[in-house]
Amino acid sequence: MSDCLFCAIASGGIPADVVASTDRVVAFRDIQPQAPVHVLIIPRAHHDDVPSIADVDPTLVAEMFALAAQVARAEGIDATGSRLVTNTGADGGQTVPHAHVHLLGGRRLSWPPG
Ligand code: AMP
Ligand code: ZN
Repeated sequence: MSDCLFCAIASGGIPADVVASTDRVVAFRDIQPQAPVHVLIIPRAHHDDVPSIADVDPTLVAEMFALAAQVARAEGIDATGSRLVTNTGADGGQTVPHAHVHLLGGRRLSWPPG
């Protein structure tokens, strides 16, 4: 999709701190980290949000979760724990309209969210 920030990051048109990738998924550090480890996992192809992917390509959701698990191990937070978050739409607090999963860890996270 033209004019999409995360499409541009996925294609390398806009630089990002990429920590892992596959042929279909890219993981890069969030520019405004909310935890010591804060990585975004995105599909290379444009989808508006994660539920949209689940509808058309559920295997891609699994690939995103698998890469998140790989990054958690690489960042050394697999033993201490982590959180995967996917914000959808206005009430979910989604600000970038390209599907992404947040991987958060490295400190004790509060619950419930505000
Ligand atoms: P959300 O609010 O769930 O849509 O999350 C979007 C996330 O993208 C936020 O945590 C932002 O800090 C992050 N973000 C926005 N622009 C960039 C960028 N250029 N590189 C890395 N992360 C970004
Ligand atoms: Zn996009």
